[in-house]
Amino acid sequence: MTERVVIIGSGPAGWSAAIYAARANLEPLVFEGIWHPEMIPLGQLAYTTEVENYPGFPAGDVRAFVDSAVAKDRHYNLPPVPQGHEQDGRPHYAVQGAELMELMKQQAINFGTRVVGEDIVGVDFDSRPLKVIRDGGQTVETNTVIVATGARANYMGLPSEELFKNKGVSACAVCDGALPRFRNKPLVVVGGGDSAVEEATYLTKFGSRVYLVHRRDQLRASKIMQQRAFDDEKLEIVWNHVVDEVLGTDDDGVTGVRVKSTADESTKDLEAGGMFLAIGHTPNTSFLEGKLDINEKGYIQWTTPFRTMTTVAGVFAAGDVADDYYRQAITSAGTGCMAALDAERYLADMGL
Ligand code: NAP
Repeated sequence: MTERVVIIGSGPAGWSAAIYAARANLEPLVFEGIWHPEMIPLGQLAYTTEVENYPGFPAGDVRAFVDSAVAKDRHYNLPPVPQGHEQDGRPHYAVQGAELMELMKQQAINFGTRVVGEDIVGVDFDSRPLKVIRDGGQTVETNTVIVATGARANYMGLPSEELFKNKGVSACAVCDGALPRFRNKPLVVVGGGDSAVEEATYLTKFGSRVYLVHRRDQLRASKIMQQRAFDDEKLEIVWNHVVDEVLGTDDDGVTGVRVKSTADESTKDLEAGGMFLAIGHTPNTSFLEGKLDINEKGYIQWTTPFRTMTTVAGVFAAGDVADDYYRQAITSAGTGCMAALDAERYLADMGL
């Protein structure tokens, strides 16, 4: 049997593509992945707490809706309801990342999407139909493929950084910054791009002081973001330094960061209750290497502006795997919709 649409990935791009493809009677097959450094089922949002900026999801008693919408056998996947958020005596919290993704998945399933909890580990685009290779080695034949495998945050690769992940080391200030462990403590952000400045500025709302550790004497961030950093009295830039070691204990998590000068190898210790990485992302495209064109940073590039086509006819890309700039749930969802429409039109044009 040849599938009409195979979707690889299960973040907002994957599920939005599935909703559109399913409603077009294309019976999409989604490979949602397993927990694995390359593929996070439900995407980066699975790690995110409250999502306040996804249109259509204002704060309220979100769980009451999620409980009624998501199939009972998946309720165990749902994160605990945030406590202490009330307005006028009623629960008042934003949808959480994992809830939002379970809702999107349910919406796709409601229209006939089939879901497989497996990774795709390779592809064969040399002949028709296209082929995707499952983790166990079996091949699935399909007329179109939508790649929506996302991107993962980069880490520096230090053993101490690994040791303190989820104990004060994070790659997402917006996701984790408001957690109690970071409140009223000095915090460290690593990086010099727009993300680093944005995250550092955001963290000044919670931390007592924020150190922005950058390996050069100039920020890569845009001028307006740089000015924001320079003007913020709670933010101090530690120029020409890299992280040497994350300091901490089992009980307390991160207590400081040892930084090393790039000029003379000298080190100094910064007291800190947390360290946030903002040193870029790596798209999940290794399984596509040599099979379609990816750019020098590993991202798939659309071959036509505002269309999700790739260099292989019938293969479309959506979400962060093709976007190193916006990287928002709503933009991913938008491009997922575009990819499904592009796939539908391709199938019609080819008479498939
Ligand atoms: P980026 O622009 O690639 O910046 C990454 C930063 O991390 C650079 O300053 C880089 O240093 C540093 N870095 C990389 N590897 C490192 C390592 N191993 N150790 C220490 N430092 C390291 O990434 P980004 O900031 O995530 O931005 C990605 C894109 O999204 C950009 O186009 C950006 O403009 C956009 N964005 C825009 C906004 C906004 O406009 N509000 C917000 C966020 C992101 P060097 O500078 O020395 O290379």
